Amino acid sequence: MLQIQLEGECHNGQYPIRLGAWHWRFETRADDSHYGYYFHCTLHAQEAGEAVVDISPDSALLPESGSSFALHIPETLWLKRQGGWERYPVDSASPEGVIRIRVSMAPGEIVSVSRMNPCPYSSVLAHLSELSNSPHTYLGTLGQSAEGREILSLTIGDGVIQVFVLAGQHPAEFGGVQAILGLADWLVSSLPEARAVRERFRVTLIPTLNPDGNVTGCCGHNRQGEDLYRAFPDAARGSTPRAQEAACLWRWVETHNPALTLNFHTYPQPSLSGSFPWEGLYTPLDTAFISEIDRARQRLLDQRLAWETDGLSHSGGFVHHSPDSLESQVARLGTPSVFYELQDAVGPIRHRRTAVHVLRTALLALFP
Ligand SMILES: [Zn+2]
Repeated sequence: MLQIQLEGECHNGQYPIRLGAWHWRFETRADDSHYGYYFHCTLHAQEAGEAVVDISPDSALLPESGSSFALHIPETLWLKRQGGWERYPVDSASPEGVIRIRVSMAPGEIVSVSRMNPCPYSSVLAHLSELSNSPHTYLGTLGQSAEGREILSLTIGDGVIQVFVLAGQHPAEFGGVQAILGLADWLVSSLPEARAVRERFRVTLIPTLNPDGNVTGCCGHNRQGEDLYRAFPDAARGSTPRAQEAACLWRWVETHNPALTLNFHTYPQPSLSGSFPWEGLYTPLDTAFISEIDRARQRLLDQRLAWETDGLSHSGGFVHHSPDSLESQVARLGTPSVFYELQDAVGPIRHRRTAVHVLRTALLALFP
């Protein structure tokens, strides 16, 4: 007999139906019709057997949720037995519009299955706490989320140039969180290059802007249904963002006036038209800048990123930011930005190394 668990940190799933002793079906719990592809469950086997689990889109938001779900059906997802997460194939004979997985389980075995490689808030907290014992490293908070969780920050370095690095606006895009933890590990290391960055810059890292969404397994929103990427309309003209997490972030930006912002997101599936590693870059529209000099600095940074990183491998060109994004708003203040979409399928080791490479490239472009 197989039991299924849909509650727990980063878990997402609803309405489980038992179709047999070893066969379950459940729906994703969507934030809206687009952000509804994420799921995460844990299976408990009492004796040996082959588990079959069918995952379908949120029925309350059909038919749009079904189209979005179908667009995001992967060839592999992530599976965890005792050790770490490993890529695991989706059953090629899945019924239409459904993700089916089959897993052979040993007696008493517990297996977790997730659409994205998860990086839970509890592990972020543990990682940052450990790193905060390093010299020149300061653990802090931007404030609290709507449900009262700390929006953790780690500042590394004592230089005069302030750099800001963000992830976790869309909670299921855990690659960005992994990227920032990798950046933190590199920045505190004894490598001469990392030491030089610490001396010249002060890098503030926010790995999980949306801790409530992370813990409760939201796909793209916070628990109040707000998209923290599109949460800054007219902030540079004095409007306070409505979402509490975005308001905390904007207050920090106004107080610290960073010289550069970086933001890591994660694509949930390889692009058919792109090439490995299917990553992305976004940039503000020219009209987001007031000053021609600021616009020119952004374009110089973009050229450097286009040639030195894999950021154009998903679609071949830059995507333009929403005017309500943080990046469009800081552009108005004259601050250049990097917005990098990692690829979930390539896994956390590559996310960590990419983040370090992107930071290095951006610093070299703007502060040679
Ligand atoms: Zn995103």
